Amino acid sequence: MASDQLNILDIIYSSSVDGTGFRDVLFVCGCPHHCPECHNPQSWNAENGHWESVDELYKKLTKSNLTNVTFSGGEPFEQTRVLCKLAKRLKEEAGKTIWIYSGYRYEELKEDGEKKKLLSLCDVLVDGKYEKNNTELNMRFKGSLNQRIIDIPSSLKENKVVLFLP
Ligand code: SF4
Repeated sequence: MASDQLNILDIIYSSSVDGTGFRDVLFVCGCPHHCPECHNPQSWNAENGHWESVDELYKKLTKSNLTNVTFSGGEPFEQTRVLCKLAKRLKEEAGKTIWIYSGYRYEELKEDGEKKKLLSLCDVLVDGKYEKNNTELNMRFKGSLNQRIIDIPSSLKENKVVLFLP
């Protein structure tokens, strides 16, 4: 596979439930976490996805000036290296803010050089596996209570988890 291709499931445009404001959501394909009652189980098997280049995805995710971007899945940090290329262009060339969802915890992600680089290119992380017995009604932007909505720049700067308050 070419070095600038991502395995993706879908893009949903102008979502209001995957982060603040309106966001175009890139659902990557492939997830090792297998959380019971995951809402997107078709994203587990990497063979369910298709490959698109960073250029193609950049064009699709910058069609509108009124939306920002969310990386969801699947597990975005399983495709960290190429996702870094896309995130860098979205930030630097298009000025987008980026939310990213992961089944990994912030503390794990920041210990891996490449994953920390992707973190540093994003603005907000929603972390942790989905826990089906740990939910309540009307939660915004996350599926279970264990998950945290994290302000990435502040957390990296202060070397501790700083929550993002939507
Ligand atoms: S991390 Fe997300 S996509 Fe993966 S199994 Fe858990 S809820 Fe589903």
